[in-house]
Amino acid sequence: MLLACAPAVRAEYDIAVNGGRVIDPESGIDKTLNVGVTAGRIAALTERPIAAAKQIDAAGRVVAPGFIDLHQHGQSIANYEAQVRDGITTALELEIGVEDVAGWYADRAGKAAVNYGASISHPYSRQLAMLGRNPGLSGESLAAELTAAQYQHLRERVARGLDEGALAVGFGLAYTPGATGEEITAMFRLAAEYDAACHVHMRTNYEDFGNLEEVVQAAKETGARLHVVHLNSSARDRVSQYLERILKARTAGVAVTTECYPYNRGSTLIQSHLFNDWQSYTDEQFGGYIWVESGETLTRETFGRYRARGGTIITPPAYSEESVRRAVASPLTMIASDGMWLDKGRAHPRSFGTYSRVLGRYVREMQALTLTDALRKMTLMPAQLLAKRVPEMRNKGRIRLGADADIVVFDADTVIDRGTFADPAQSPAGIEHVIVNGVLTVENGKLLRRVAAGRPVRARQIRRDAPGTTWRQPQPD
Ligand SMILES: [Zn+2]
Repeated sequence: MLLACAPAVRAEYDIAVNGGRVIDPESGIDKTLNVGVTAGRIAALTERPIAAAKQIDAAGRVVAPGFIDLHQHGQSIANYEAQVRDGITTALELEIGVEDVAGWYADRAGKAAVNYGASISHPYSRQLAMLGRNPGLSGESLAAELTAAQYQHLRERVARGLDEGALAVGFGLAYTPGATGEEITAMFRLAAEYDAACHVHMRTNYEDFGNLEEVVQAAKETGARLHVVHLNSSARDRVSQYLERILKARTAGVAVTTECYPYNRGSTLIQSHLFNDWQSYTDEQFGGYIWVESGETLTRETFGRYRARGGTIITPPAYSEESVRRAVASPLTMIASDGMWLDKGRAHPRSFGTYSRVLGRYVREMQALTLTDALRKMTLMPAQLLAKRVPEMRNKGRIRLGADADIVVFDADTVIDRGTFADPAQSPAGIEHVIVNGVLTVENGKLLRRVAAGRPVRARQIRRDAPGTTWRQPQPD
């Protein structure tokens, strides 16, 4: 009797994602398949029906690799929960980076809904080298040049971060006007020794392309890999010319990559250097800024008050929607959100809906690029960029046998972001299921809060108690 009650077919897999349109930008697969997941890996890709403990019906839906976000300042548990609902399965803080790499990874172990990782921060390491403390992206020191002793201290800190497994070196050159060309070149040289890419928020001199030329020259001279962050906000309405120059540098053999986010308004810290001339603004100008915490539009009075206190703002549109479209559509750019930490649960809407916005607005509505091309920019391209330093990334950003089961299932007909600048904290529509390392984390659009399946993405470490060891990441082919 008991035997008769047993299921006819033994569950072969932990999870089966059945009947979806599987798209894998690396192999070019774009067909209806069943995906079997076991022990965190993709264990079957087949047309035959498969049995699993958990069945997901993906008929009429796209099944794609989970999105890899190279530019995520939001690294709290709540941020990770917002990201996974946008289809992100790996969220990396590579632009500004962190000051204590080992401590940062330790803080997140076992708690994150998505995979996480960080770069070692040039600006924060610089502050520590100069001041012995890190006041972040504010203070006079950002505009000062380093002494020889301070430079030595900076170098030691950045090298230690790389030894501890930092994925890259993060630069915010717009925030550190005191960093000279020599300092930048020396940092690039150090990054090149570790085959760590330099993720750079360029300086603000975009009128003559001087900001790009400076870092391309440093990459060329040192052999470091350069990744230009948020090309949309750094190039503004010159995005096509910037893309041409990046292509030219690549053709000449310089390793340059770039990324963009799909909005024409930015978000940054009100206390930063960028607003030192705020008192010269017209009354009308202040109305272009939004205080994130409350959604209120600023005035001269509130701008001054909040600047004294410090916090996050949305900046006015600084370039056209057409420039954003060009950035998103270019085959050179990856998609990266520049998502922000939550301020009372709120942040620039890019923190909640970057990926669904590209898929809904730019792919479906505007047909600015194909679905497969968009997915390549969200999955394969960032995985390839990281694999130079972290060979394990060859198992992410792909739907293939043996790949990590980071999978997003979405409805291409309805996927769209829902947050606005005034009311940003909205989950996207159409992102139905998300699997992280083989663990179902979003089901039917709902976050399953009991799971935190994210793992560290980290370069191999040197043992710091092994004096004299010269460690180099093995060179991948
Ligand atoms: Zn930036």
